[in-house]
Amino acid sequence: MTDKPVILVPGKIHPRVIERLQPRFELLQTPPGQPVELDETDAARVRGIAIAGAVPGALIDRLPNLEVIANFGVGYDGVDVAKAASRNVIVTNTPDVLDDEVADTTIALLINTIRRFYQAETYLREGRWQSEGPFALSPLSLRGRHVGLYGLGRIGGEIASRLEPFKVKISYHTRSEKPGVAYDYRPSLLELAKAVDTLICIVPKTPETHKAINADVLKALGPNGVFISVGRGWSVDEPALISALKDGTIAAAGMDVFYEEPKVPAEFLNLPNVSLLPHVASASVPTRNAMADLVADNLIGWFENRTVKTPVPETPVK
Ligand code: NDP
Repeated sequence: MTDKPVILVPGKIHPRVIERLQPRFELLQTPPGQPVELDETDAARVRGIAIAGAVPGALIDRLPNLEVIANFGVGYDGVDVAKAASRNVIVTNTPDVLDDEVADTTIALLINTIRRFYQAETYLREGRWQSEGPFALSPLSLRGRHVGLYGLGRIGGEIASRLEPFKVKISYHTRSEKPGVAYDYRPSLLELAKAVDTLICIVPKTPETHKAINADVLKALGPNGVFISVGRGWSVDEPALISALKDGTIAAAGMDVFYEEPKVPAEFLNLPNVSLLPHVASASVPTRNAMADLVADNLIGWFENRTVKTPVPETPVK
């Protein structure tokens, strides 16, 4: 035992978080995929948590001296923030440092979905270019598209500014119209879907966004429609999307996030008009290092001088 503050690290986290925390804290690491097992003495010693996963209210309840939870990721839906706030426990996330990477990935996924580059490359690798001739023309194009952003926050804004040079029309829906934003605002998701032919989902996981992308929204998007999912799989009614892709209600979809990760419905794998990524939008070494540094900086800042860089809005300190 040392007199360093004790940080609980449940399950797996980026190794750089451990590397940065190790010299200043005593770390209690628990095995991945299992509920956290701590005796009462250890539970009472925990003052901080570093997490890339879930912190349920029941865990917070068991830690009487918990002060801060540092979440690896901008989406902190795995952390019971209401419970944390009720206990005056600070929660931090990792915004800003991943916006550009996620926005870049979104544009790549959009173009890949529309122009079928994965299929084209596979065709070349299989030697079919030589044996069968040129790859089939892609039925879809980004040219002349009208893109709707469901969510226009830090990442949505970066996606929109990247879309501008592509000369597409841009509209958006959020709960409140953004002052000073020139893009066309639609007061509901359904109205946005009716107006556009390309829909990008980049809202957080909240009760209101659950299965928001449903059969009605997909029908409104229409037969030339392309849907891109980079927010959370939670926001998509996957059976409705699979039906829409199968029967031509929409033309194609690109997905980085899924309802029950890492499980991906087999139907998606068998569809020719989807582009699928295993939740990699922020997954480059430099960006994940920056996220890891922010997790460590928040914990170090809190225990050195009671400041955190990136508290979530629900948290008791600003
Ligand atoms: P922000 O909080 O900056 O932006 C969220 C946006 O969603 C805001 O424009 C907000 O506007 C809008 N929004 C929230 N709730 C609703 C709602 N019920 N209806 C309509 N609009 C809504 O978040 P970020 O841009 O930083 O991140 C967004 C999400 O992207 C994260 O929460 C995370 O889940 C996901 N993400 C996915 C990644 C991946 O690897 N695929 C990587 C990083 C993030 P308003 O408040 O006006 O409604």
